[in-house]
Amino acid sequence: MQKITVLSGGVGGARFIQGLLHGIARGSLPGIAADAEVTVIANTADDLWIHGLKVCPDLDTVMYTLGDGIDTERGWGRREETWSAKTELALYGVEPTWFGLGDRDIATHLVRTQMLESGYPLSEVTAALCRRWSQADSWGGVRLLPMTDDRVETHVAVADLEEPSGRRVIHFQEYWVRLRAEVPAEALVFVGLEQSTPAPGVLDAIAEADLVILPPSNPVVSVGTILGVPGIREALAGTAAPVVGLSPIVADTHVHGMAKQMLDAIGVDVTAAAVALHYGSRAAGGVLDGWLVDGSDSSHVAAVESAGIACAAVPLMMTDHDATAAMAAAAIDLVRPA
Ligand code: GDP
Ligand code: CA
Repeated sequence: MQKITVLSGGVGGARFIQGLLHGIARGSLPGIAADAEVTVIANTADDLWIHGLKVCPDLDTVMYTLGDGIDTERGWGRREETWSAKTELALYGVEPTWFGLGDRDIATHLVRTQMLESGYPLSEVTAALCRRWSQADSWGGVRLLPMTDDRVETHVAVADLEEPSGRRVIHFQEYWVRLRAEVPAEALVFVGLEQSTPAPGVLDAIAEADLVILPPSNPVVSVGTILGVPGIREALAGTAAPVVGLSPIVADTHVHGMAKQMLDAIGVDVTAAAVALHYGSRAAGGVLDGWLVDGSDSSHVAAVESAGIACAAVPLMMTDHDATAAMAAAAIDLVRPA
């Protein structure tokens, strides 16, 4: 298998891709050549405009991670970051103050915003930004595509008794960063998603793939939004490549992040099996041929299999590149043509 396409969110997706590249480089993935090409289709529904800048958190997390520029402790943003601009903005009393824009990171957003305002689509801007980061050895030849060039934003309804409706709708980033997902998400609104079109290269990357992977990314606000771009589900249904996913839910909760809150918001049980059934079997109009659950969730295997999805239970904690590469190998094994 030469062409691998991954549908990714931010931190979970980026860590998985690192492990996948590690496995490719080491030759430890069954049936995958050392010169296999990886295309990443990243979620852009977390994107926001802030202080006049276009910020794309998931694209940047993947780009900085693969380019070896990520702050590994935080998991997002630039390493050796400084925060002078943020401090100055606060001294001006400019809102919002909850979104952390580091000085180094701002340079990325300045380049992006400038290019967007001169008329380049996000996909071309992303390719331009990646020209710098792809110089790193760790990049692994990855092609990084936004899911769409159109503006799509996930918004979250939260309870607010000061509002006449009892609710307030905020940007997903405000829910996650300012509120730390500590209050229930009562509803999700994917603004612009239904009207969006896949970015150039996205449908071909699925149609021409030898393997499509859904990494352990958020099933609602990362993979879910990618699947919501009209045409992408159909491309997955039609590709000759097997489609395999890895559960982001382990022992009935997310490992990091807020997948639990997002699944609650759409009424899907927070279990590895329920997420698989939510994606559905490709044979029955869904997107999955195979699904990996964590070893602690082995009791869910039968339920996934009875929905027509091949399933196995293996360790799914991305503790280091070797562990993550072993996850990728197990995923490939599950759906590899005999
Ligand atoms: P985000 O955009 O930064 O939130 O990142 P993603 O959507 O790509 O991935 C976030 C999800 O990854 C979390 O909600 C977790 O459920 C999942 N996750 C993170 N680390 C691990 C891990 O080590 N193992 C598994 N199975 N899932 C993980
Ligand atoms: Ca994200």
